[in-house]
Amino acid sequence: MHFVSTRNADHRATLSETLTRGLAPDGGLYVPASFPAVDPMEAPSDAITDIAAHMLAPYFEGDPLAPMLDAICADTFSFPVPLRDLGRDTAVLELFHGPTAAFKDVGARFLASALSHLNKDAAQPITILVATSGDTGAAVAAAFHEKPNVEVVVCYPKGRVSARQEKQLTGWDQNVRTLAVNGDFDDCQRLVKGAFQDEALSTEKRLSSANSINVGRLLPQLTYYAAASRWYVREHNVSPGFIVPSGNLGNAVAALYARAMGSPMRPVVMATNENRPVVDFLATGSWEPKPTQETLATAMDVGDPSNMERLRHHWPTIEGVRGQVEAERIADDEIERQIQRGLDVWDTVWDPHTATAAAVREQCDTPHWVLVATAHPAKFDTVVEPLIGETVPVPEALQAVMQRSTPAPLIEPTMDAFREAVLAG
Ligand SMILES: *Cc1c(COP(=O)(O)O)cnc(C)c1O
Repeated sequence: MHFVSTRNADHRATLSETLTRGLAPDGGLYVPASFPAVDPMEAPSDAITDIAAHMLAPYFEGDPLAPMLDAICADTFSFPVPLRDLGRDTAVLELFHGPTAAFKDVGARFLASALSHLNKDAAQPITILVATSGDTGAAVAAAFHEKPNVEVVVCYPKGRVSARQEKQLTGWDQNVRTLAVNGDFDDCQRLVKGAFQDEALSTEKRLSSANSINVGRLLPQLTYYAAASRWYVREHNVSPGFIVPSGNLGNAVAALYARAMGSPMRPVVMATNENRPVVDFLATGSWEPKPTQETLATAMDVGDPSNMERLRHHWPTIEGVRGQVEAERIADDEIERQIQRGLDVWDTVWDPHTATAAAVREQCDTPHWVLVATAHPAKFDTVVEPLIGETVPVPEALQAVMQRSTPAPLIEPTMDAFREAVLAG
């Protein structure tokens, strides 16, 4: 099993190479050359770690990481991933029980585990660059902190993440540094992508990326779709559809990978916020990235989602894409309404991102849907608490970081400023 670049099918790379490089040398994204057929119903048990190792085995075959597969899956899923029945032919897949209370922990922990195995004996440390709209950076920082021979530079858009997210992003020490960028998420993403094309940076540092431009985020994410579909089928004897709160589309594309490999899944629906390029693309067939628009679901504020390149690589025609995935746009007032109604209707407090999935669920009258819960509501307390009129209990992992206060240096959103900051470490 090998990987290719979205921009050149002749550029082949092994799993270890794709994880280490992040981005292909031609600027393309790595994708599996094909989808191995793997049925999650045949995994040795219901444990998420067993299902993950079962689904990922073909990608690891023949790679130096192959002997570490079980260990990497155990490191990745060091926390539970419950599929909780909500009644009315609906379940919620809770992906927020990890150290930073959002689903990004899964991809970050997988990459941290794999890259630290690969770099144990390297002469020069690897430098992981990560652009974040809030949750990725925190997850990556937490996953890599104190891992030997790896340094991490996180950049986030100043003023566009929640106060609690900012605490999780900053205040790290040792091998993790954070930069506040005077711009939006697309600026941060541009800086990280630009670093790989930058002479000075790529000669001085061994760069890699932990954004969903790294296929190492998508691989572990596909495994929880495989697991949830198995659990749902066991319980209800029917394949579920999935509603995925989506921004940069890494999570939704991972769902499509799981289904392409043979997981028993019905439709995949991307729930987006008011950032509209994806919904417009499915409607009109023309792809027009837009400037990022700020919404209540900040981690989905992406105007130019990078995983579109993967989607269009695997399914090159608009009919092909339409055959794979649907998309619904949810406005801020509807997000607020869902958070307000969540306790009454589902006995659940939604975070603003998962609320988009709840809104889409309400719009479809067909049964058997899994809502993908991407973050814990306590992470977005300033939005959620006024709407529900009560405080949201804070999970233990979040309590620890809330004590911190180390402001990150502010940089302008230019390549010069970014290069200088990265090289200073
Ligand atoms: C990152 C994130 C999303 C969007 O996921 P993508 O893979 O970028 O589409 C949704 N919700 C939360 C809470 C997130 O952190």
